[in-house]
Amino acid sequence: MTDMPSEYSVTVLLVDDKRSIALLTEAMLADQPDIDFHACLDERQAVDMACQIGPTVILQDKYMPHIDGFNLLKLYRENPAIRDIPVIMLSGEEKAETKAEAFLAGANDYMVKPPNAIELVARLRHHTKSYLDHLERKHLFQRLQEKEELLKVANRKLKRTATTDALTQIPNRLYFNERLQHEWKIMARNKTALSIVMIDIDNFKQYNDHYGHQQGDTCLQQVAKIMANTVHRPADMVARYGGEEFVVIFPDTPEDGAKKVAEDIRTAIETLHIPHPHAEAAPYVTISLGVASSLPCGTGDEETPEQLLKAADTALYLSKKNGRNRVTIAE
Ligand code: GH3
Ligand code: MG
Ligand code: MG
Repeated sequence: MTDMPSEYSVTVLLVDDKRSIALLTEAMLADQPDIDFHACLDERQAVDMACQIGPTVILQDKYMPHIDGFNLLKLYRENPAIRDIPVIMLSGEEKAETKAEAFLAGANDYMVKPPNAIELVARLRHHTKSYLDHLERKHLFQRLQEKEELLKVANRKLKRTATTDALTQIPNRLYFNERLQHEWKIMARNKTALSIVMIDIDNFKQYNDHYGHQQGDTCLQQVAKIMANTVHRPADMVARYGGEEFVVIFPDTPEDGAKKVAEDIRTAIETLHIPHPHAEAAPYVTISLGVASSLPCGTGDEETPEQLLKAADTALYLSKKNGRNRVTIAE
């Protein structure tokens, strides 16, 4: 990034093949202590020299032996390092057409040779000021964009933190509720089925009592990971609903599909064989599940997401009641 000069000091680069013009211009500016003057007598080196010196304004001759002044202007404008530097065309030509052509070629100003010293200094200062102001605005804009980018990253992180369960690193209840509302609307519009599965670890209180809370946490992490890996469709989502309860959302999935995956999840946890001597259904960690599905009937008399959750919860309760480690479908 370019350093911002604290004040408007002028750096001029004169590009003219005539030494006499260079000497004359230098003499005109000699009594201006804040004007730094450079001359380039070979226009083929003008671009390099401009890049090196970083002038705040270029005084550009029109007729030169190798490159025409207007063509040189184009070269300046094509070079990102110097494209914004203001260029004052200097020419013996007084015709309005030539002046118009210069502006069309990208010149910022036009002066007839030889320029008046007072006018030249005034124009050099004017163009320098607007150039440095422009650089500063650009600099501020870039910093603003950088800040915005940082803010975006921070927001994404914040959003992730707010929607992720800290212990298991799967979506939390807040995010699940958001998704459920969202999928519910899609389901109503597309007239497709939506299923959810409520899951609860069996006799988990005894697990904690037996192994301690810390190992209980590790068990929750393990179970969450396996469940998240067992659902396959991109839209399916397992969330931690609270404590040792989890919930899965299956958009665009009717009851029998959800039942099948629920059974897969149950089997996946059972086959982990995490020892649990006090579990009711088996000597290792098992889960009970309740499946509920909804298909909008289009009568305006539809269920609500809350009713669907309640139905899944009731089915889960029946799984518990009937011996745990099983899947029950809601009525
Ligand atoms: P049930 O088979 O009927 O579900 O019995 P349960 O013991 O699993 O159910 P209950 O609701 O009585 O107890 C749930 C226990 O889950 C209580 C608590 O010890 C444990 N628990 C809930 N959240 C956490 C957690 O974040 N970490 C740990 N380690 N344990 C938790
Ligand atoms: Mg529970
Ligand atoms: Mg439980």
